[in-house]
Amino acid sequence: MSEYIPTIGLEIHSELKTRTKMFCSSKNDANETRPNVNICPICMAHPGTLPVINAEAVKSVLRVGVALGATLADYTEFDRKNYFYPDLPKGYQLSQYEYPLVSGGELNGIAITRIHLEEDTASSVHTEDPSTSSGQGGVTTIDYNRAGVPLMELVTEPVITSAKQAGDFARELQLLLRTLGASDANMEKGEMRVEANVSVSKGNQLGTKVEIKNLNSFRAMERAVEYEIKRQTALLERGEKVVQETRGWDESKQSTFVQRVKEGSADYRYFPDPDLPSLKLSELPEYSEETLRKSLPELPRERRSRYLALGVKGEDTELYMREPMLGAFFEGVIAGFKGDKSRVVLASNYIANDLVALLRDDEKRDTDYRANMPISARNFSKVIEMLSERKISSRAAKGILAESVKSGRDPEEVARSENLYQMSAGSDFEAVVRSTLATNPSVVADYRAGKLAALEYLVGQSMKATKGAADPSTLRELTLKLIKEA
Ligand code: ADP
Ligand code: MG
Repeated sequence: MSEYIPTIGLEIHSELKTRTKMFCSSKNDANETRPNVNICPICMAHPGTLPVINAEAVKSVLRVGVALGATLADYTEFDRKNYFYPDLPKGYQLSQYEYPLVSGGELNGIAITRIHLEEDTASSVHTEDPSTSSGQGGVTTIDYNRAGVPLMELVTEPVITSAKQAGDFARELQLLLRTLGASDANMEKGEMRVEANVSVSKGNQLGTKVEIKNLNSFRAMERAVEYEIKRQTALLERGEKVVQETRGWDESKQSTFVQRVKEGSADYRYFPDPDLPSLKLSELPEYSEETLRKSLPELPRERRSRYLALGVKGEDTELYMREPMLGAFFEGVIAGFKGDKSRVVLASNYIANDLVALLRDDEKRDTDYRANMPISARNFSKVIEMLSERKISSRAAKGILAESVKSGRDPEEVARSENLYQMSAGSDFEAVVRSTLATNPSVVADYRAGKLAALEYLVGQSMKATKGAADPSTLRELTLKLIKEA
């Protein structure tokens, strides 16, 4: 019996980080907490007002298109999508229907259908009446700060085959949008909203799809997709049918539930907005692919391959891509190493293992280090330099690093004041070991008589005398050599 194969297509909305709204000069500020302050007659749809296209928003979407290797539109226009809802002051949403700004392209090997530009709706806040058990009698208030904020919608082809692949795509898009400065793309803040379309089928023909909404995190999205694949497979195996519908994700029950059944597609009576000009982008040099390409920063995939080419481990590379603070720190450290691979790799090992552990050990810093790194890249680099020049042992390096993270002290100063500099060429260690042997003749005799533990004791005494500056293995070798010579 063949298996049911899942198919997933994503629709992802992202609020663009522009100074002003999509069609007026009201501020676009996602962090504004006072309701209804960033509004004006245009985004409140007063009669007689006229919208103006935000060039920054258009450019932002086109840059995303270039980064995805997509085709930019020669010609584009904005359409009215008509429907009634209290969060939509005009009674229609300005969106793009026939002529999206961007078509095609791919991310993580997933084909993209289109990216278009539209405006966000206001946010509705529902409050329940605490005096009634049903919550009935509460009110809904509307905050129009979000009404008219530029919104980019990206639609993928139905070519994703697992929840993990869907999650990876959305995470990679978030990273790209942040890298480009197009959107802050925080899922929890609603700056990025993912809708997943899921179907399962056995043959080449795609099955009936279900659309899942209310996904506030990547985890929730992955769980919802997994749940839906199982639910649909079980239905079909029982000989039942999948109903085309919109479902929500219930976080507490970890299951999807019916929101509404689709009765044919809603008639939005799309038509080109008569108040806005159409755009002939091919006639505007500042929107040309060539100009936009020059404005792109290093893209995530380029940054990844740069790290890998330097010899950085794959998992460390992903850590720097995922954690902006650690990524910026790593950049700061390797900038001084000028492509010296062995130092870069050494630094990466100490960041991904020792430094991350130190930051996590200190509970207060567990969340803090994302905002505030307790050691400077310069100081960290000094530890790596001393280590790679063998001026200090790896054991000393760990201690110095811990001290510098805790107190902010200069690692060279710590090494000096704590006598952790590995004395050069081993000659000074030799003096230490000689003195250990000289002051412990009975232990030396024990070792000669076959007591192996005696050697460890002697090494331990020398370790103490060098305050950990020397590697135990170096001291053990020297001890053996000098006992033999004596
Ligand atoms: P609709 O007309 O219902 O909006 P679209 O064809 O525009 O459907 O597709 C919307 C989204 O659903 C896209 O992301 C697309 O990849 C996805 N999709 C379409 N058909 C399927 C299917 N059978 N299974 C899973 N996803 C699908
Ligand atoms: Mg559609």
